Amino acid sequence: MDSQVGPGSQDYVALEARFGARNYHPVPVVVERALDCRVWDVEGREYIDMMGAYSAVSHGHLHPRIVAAANRQLQKVAVTSRAYYGNTLGPFLAKLCAVAGFDRALPMNTGAEAVETAIKCARRWGHQVKGVPDGQAEILVARGNFHGRTSTIIGFSSEAEYRAGFGPFAPGFRHFDFGDMRSIEASAGPNTCAVLVEPILGEAGILLPPPGFFRELREWCTRNRVLWIDDEVQAGLGRTGRWFAFEHEGVRPDGLILGKALGGGLLPVSAFLADAPVMDVFNPGSHGSTFGGNALAAAVALEGLRVLEEENLVERAADMGPYLMARLQEVQREAGPLIRDVRGRGLWIGVDIDPAYGSARRLVERLAERGVLSKETHETVIRFAPPLTITKELVDRAVGIFREVVLQR
Ligand code: PMP
Repeated sequence: MDSQVGPGSQDYVALEARFGARNYHPVPVVVERALDCRVWDVEGREYIDMMGAYSAVSHGHLHPRIVAAANRQLQKVAVTSRAYYGNTLGPFLAKLCAVAGFDRALPMNTGAEAVETAIKCARRWGHQVKGVPDGQAEILVARGNFHGRTSTIIGFSSEAEYRAGFGPFAPGFRHFDFGDMRSIEASAGPNTCAVLVEPILGEAGILLPPPGFFRELREWCTRNRVLWIDDEVQAGLGRTGRWFAFEHEGVRPDGLILGKALGGGLLPVSAFLADAPVMDVFNPGSHGSTFGGNALAAAVALEGLRVLEEENLVERAADMGPYLMARLQEVQREAGPLIRDVRGRGLWIGVDIDPAYGSARRLVERLAERGVLSKETHETVIRFAPPLTITKELVDRAVGIFREVVLQR
């Protein structure tokens, strides 16, 4: 490294490549700082953040109210473990239950941990409440699902890349085709305790189910005494233009998994929510997490929920989502067959590129070179999920650059 000018992007890329495990393939942008919807790299180049850290930065980077709440809490206490009570966890859980409409919430840290929590809860409910013989509970999951990276969760992924070499896998999961009730009926059996499903298949390429699917699923689950567990780690907290994606069909799941934006863009905070008859299968000693619900995380997450509500960020997503969609569809019309599809809901939009014209990755890199951050999902989909605070002006600039990059091919 040159000590005169200080290390540059290449140096940091090289350090991560040398000392990091090779489990990521980042876009070559070395971020130094960020504020709201903008990001700056170590060379001082500015970017519009159209990716929002996979939906973790829905409030915008370093939202001043959330940073202030963190700073206030940092003058008091950050981590005590759940061995004691605290004066931030209760208020956070109460607010979370109020906005989501559930009796109880169990705080964890990452999305995958909250999914694991849901799996444990559903199985125990199956064994203790539904009467499934112990150790026999089955959970239905969608083909194309993404619920995280633990060994149990990847065991029921249908993606070879996520699984290869990581077995043996936990039993007790069966697949169905997303959006297809007949397929659910065919996969279910007497020991089925839950259907675990995303409202929109995010990592699979932002795939929406046919309208009415979740209403049918709700009825079927109720009829068959099966829990509907809704993984809104990515979709929840305003991303789709409603507080929760399940609201789009006017139905309510039995369990809700949240993460990402729950941490206000500052910290990993996740939670599993359910009503008492389901959640109360957990008793002391049956589940936990050293950091889950820590004082700092709870203070930050509580302020994050207040900001969403008081700054009307859900309504903003409902306004700006269709605007971004319309602008991207204009580009689609101009670009012809290169763009196969533009789909999504709220501020969560995938642009599907025909591989005959090149990879989504290459377009993502060219967008980054021009100051727009996005991310590919699989080979063909470019994901746009900006902070919910994104303005029309920034959308116009970002889509203008996207248009140029696409038309310049
Ligand atoms: N569920 C869904 C729907 C997700 O999109 C993700 C992350 N992309 C997860 C769970 C896992 O979250 P985490 O990476 O925080 O473990």
